[in-house]
Amino acid sequence: MEIIHVSAECYPVAKAGGLGDVVGALPKYQCKAGDIAKVVMPMYRTKFLYENEWDVDFKGSANLGNWYFDFTVIKERTNKLGFDLYLVDINGLLDRQKIYGYDDDAERFTAFQIAVVNWISNWEHRPDIVHCHDHHTALIPFMMQYCYAYQFLANVPTVLTIHNGQYQGWMGWNKSTYIPSWDLWKRGMLDWAGNINPLASGVKCAGKVTTVSWSYMEELRVSANGLEQLFEYEKGKCIGILNGIDNEVWDPSTDTYLDHHFSIKSVTKGKEKNKEILCEQFDLDASKPLFVFIGRLVGEKAAEILPDAIKTAIFNTQGNASFLILGSGDTSVEWAFQQMAGEFKGIFNAVIGYDEKLSHKMYAGADFLLMPSRVEPCGLNQMYAMRYGTVPIVRSTGGLKDTVLDMGDFEGYGIRFDQATVHDIDYSIGRGVSVYQDKKHMEWMRKKMMSIDHSWEGTVNQYKEVYLSLK
Ligand code: ADP
Repeated sequence: MEIIHVSAECYPVAKAGGLGDVVGALPKYQCKAGDIAKVVMPMYRTKFLYENEWDVDFKGSANLGNWYFDFTVIKERTNKLGFDLYLVDINGLLDRQKIYGYDDDAERFTAFQIAVVNWISNWEHRPDIVHCHDHHTALIPFMMQYCYAYQFLANVPTVLTIHNGQYQGWMGWNKSTYIPSWDLWKRGMLDWAGNINPLASGVKCAGKVTTVSWSYMEELRVSANGLEQLFEYEKGKCIGILNGIDNEVWDPSTDTYLDHHFSIKSVTKGKEKNKEILCEQFDLDASKPLFVFIGRLVGEKAAEILPDAIKTAIFNTQGNASFLILGSGDTSVEWAFQQMAGEFKGIFNAVIGYDEKLSHKMYAGADFLLMPSRVEPCGLNQMYAMRYGTVPIVRSTGGLKDTVLDMGDFEGYGIRFDQATVHDIDYSIGRGVSVYQDKKHMEWMRKKMMSIDHSWEGTVNQYKEVYLSLK
């Protein structure tokens, strides 16, 4: 089976969050399972581009409304990532350093999608599946079916995976001319609440829609940033498939970012050594339980209540816990954390920014990982934490609910709470501080978590079933 993944992110080429991790791993494991999986993404000006060798695969041209543009598709020469990787270059739109956050993102990603469909429709054969990810690529199922120029692809099955339904890519109808000449009777397939809504269009037009956990699939029917009715109506073709993690990248016994490797057997000693280095680097006391947070400092992650929650916990635990934050996002939250680093020296520290290497060191050295997320479609952090023997403290939502069992339940190994409030987070930190004193229980939980299989191998079969159902 030949599967083309179309995405805005792919680790290690360009990653802003979980989407990048998934698109960097799923195709690799699909290839290992015997299928041909390829990834096509924009050619941002990232380190990966300059450090690898490329061949030109295709040169084409297209229109974005009145704007005529040339595009080039290049292919990585050595199959380094375990799958064929293609990058699309459009001068003036995709030749940027960052993935998102530009005023012309609508133009950038619409042009990218047009170039991709144009490229595939120039092949001599048709792929078996076009697999789109999130709203940046969700207009493709519409284009393949209803744009006159791409009729060659009309019967190719499409799958849309929703990694985050909060972002939908809305644009006004004044931008409808961007989409290459299409069947105007199909206007309803683009529209939601008076705008062009790419994510809604993808849900309507794709053969199957998947989300990255079972619980998130159900939550979207009650809370989906305006698309609740659509998810209710289309529930027949929607399915939840829990993300896997790339066990080759995330393995504490081989992870090149770590100073000390460890396995299930050596987890207690191994984590201790990593913790010592981490605490020394950030001026924290390694004899106390270490709580960390890694992620985007945004409302979805309930980041804005963390400063107050941690201050309360510092007070209530009488300074008997250490805290380390890694993240960036809302400036008010960044600022609050920076203030706290000055105020609670030796107890609290924060790194504002994105640092892949430090994130690995933190998963390895921490005792507890905080994830009070309001919305968490799947969440990879808690799975990485567990693979590194770190106890996740999570709000019961989405993928967190599907992957973490509270330590109060039979054979439980994590800490769960219901509300994203100062009280619930503080109370959960308190539970962490208590259980930390029980060394035997901590060791049992660490070993238990590390033995859970979150690998992609099983997940790949579930995607294959979805593809086969469309043939
Ligand atoms: P989301 O995609 O909503 O941001 P996920 O839990 O699905 O959340 O994935 C987050 C990924 O991004 C994880 O691999 C996490 O380690 C990484 N990450 C997030 N913020 C940072 C950061 N500041 N530095 C390093 N890695 C980060």
